[in-house]
Amino acid sequence: MKRRHTPDELAAALRERFPAPYSLSFRQVAEAAVELIDPGPEPVPEPDGALTPEQAKALLKEEDNGYMGTKTIFDKSKCQHCGGLHARKCPAVAEIEYHPDGKVSRVVYFPHGSWPADEVLWLEDVVKAAEAETD
Ligand SMILES: [Zn+2]
Repeated sequence: MKRRHTPDELAAALRERFPAPYSLSFRQVAEAAVELIDPGPEPVPEPDGALTPEQAKALLKEEDNGYMGTKTIFDKSKCQHCGGLHARKCPAVAEIEYHPDGKVSRVVYFPHGSWPADEVLWLEDVVKAAEAETD
């Protein structure tokens, strides 16, 4: 695969595309990573829970955030409620209320074990996917 972006450029492009610290759809991140790594004519593959090593490595790339230290794109993008990446609303959250300024005022979680954790992309899944094709 020809690399048209350095890891730093890729990280910067992802950060620009997803500026807010909200929970992103796993698909959004994966599609953006694929598109940025290889913007060729081939259609973007359906991630469907299986990250390519390139997608996973893009998520685990550490970025320098100045005085905030380094953080991976995964850490910057993960859900503030469950700590993973997922499509749409957090599957762990039953109810959520916001202050008018957009901050969360109240969260009610589903009981542990009663929500579909397999809809969430966990850090360990990303690490496993990133290691899949090394050496
Ligand atoms: Zn969540």
